[in-house]
Amino acid sequence: MEAEEELVLEEVALRHPIVFDVFNLCEMHGLGKLRQLSVAMIRSICEHSDIDVGNIKGRLKAPFLSLLGEFLELCNCQHSLDHSPCL
Ligand SMILES: [Zn+2]
Repeated sequence: MEAEEELVLEEVALRHPIVFDVFNLCEMHGLGKLRQLSVAMIRSICEHSDIDVGNIKGRLKAPFLSLLGEFLELCNCQHSLDHSPCL
């Protein structure tokens, strides 16, 4: 049982940097560039990352951005002292 839990943790760790298509989302979040993407693009990134966006109505960018931002804050690089993104 313990061994299985360790395996899961490792898999999560290996997923960094968080990327989608050609975008390094860690880096873009760190630089505040995610807002430059279209709503449709941000939405598909959220869906791809298993972020629940089912409650978001309309086509405003802000709610998607804040959910995606919360998700990316989970990555270790966002807590490093110099905010250098993982590459
Ligand atoms: Zn990262």
